[in-house]
Amino acid sequence: MNRLIHLVLFLMGLGMAETALYAKDYAADRRRMVKKVEEMAASTASHTLIEQFDSRVIKAIGEVPRHQFVPAEIRAASYRNRPLSIGHGQTISQPFIVALMSELLQVKPTDRVLEIGTGSGYQTAVLSSLAAKVYSIEIIPELGEAARKTLERLGYLNVETKIGDGYLGWPDRAPFDGIIVTAAPDHIPAALVDQLKPNKRMVIPVGGLTQALMVVTKRADGTTTNKTIVPVRFVPLTRE
Ligand code: SAH
Repeated sequence: MNRLIHLVLFLMGLGMAETALYAKDYAADRRRMVKKVEEMAASTASHTLIEQFDSRVIKAIGEVPRHQFVPAEIRAASYRNRPLSIGHGQTISQPFIVALMSELLQVKPTDRVLEIGTGSGYQTAVLSSLAAKVYSIEIIPELGEAARKTLERLGYLNVETKIGDGYLGWPDRAPFDGIIVTAAPDHIPAALVDQLKPNKRMVIPVGGLTQALMVVTKRADGTTTNKTIVPVRFVPLTRE
């Protein structure tokens, strides 16, 4: 009898452990990741001309559940400060790079922002916390569709996504207060500059195998000033 009770208690314990595991919210992992991002930001501050990360960006990185944006098999690794594979040969960017790009974009709560390369939707979610509205374009239908569902399920409601070639921007929704490109073209796409409001910024990796992360600011006359921030490695921007 005693044994039976022990067995029942043991099985209940297993059940509870499994429930706890399933319900893991990764809060501690996320806090550790934010700390890493902040440390890295401090050590690159001189290169990037950023004194200190905007607390809104850090808050967003601390809140968005990154584990919900990666395939289930690699969920345990989701808060490492590194890029991860999301299938279709694509990657979810390193958290520090997401923070850096969001910071460089200087998003205001009233801004309408365009993102090229929805991928997992993680960067979209971070921008969604910072801006009034985020428009995001993904060229691989399966990824774009999966990201749309994830964003909807998690309640990021100020996001509109579409499948298409982001090289051409989203003329119907232009002009934008900021544009972020998370796949690398070998030159700055003219259509994206056109769709940017004057005195606003585009953050974009430009180059071949390795790229320069650039901040492109549009002047009132339509020309741009370009500043190189750090070397980065993104997947290439492909064309339809
Ligand atoms: N911001 C993403 C990063 C994804 S990697 C994230 O946080 O997960 C870059 C993505 O850009 C890939 O999903 C790739 O399919 C997409 N991409 C590449 N070329 C594109 C194009 N021309 N238009 C739109 N998306 C593009």
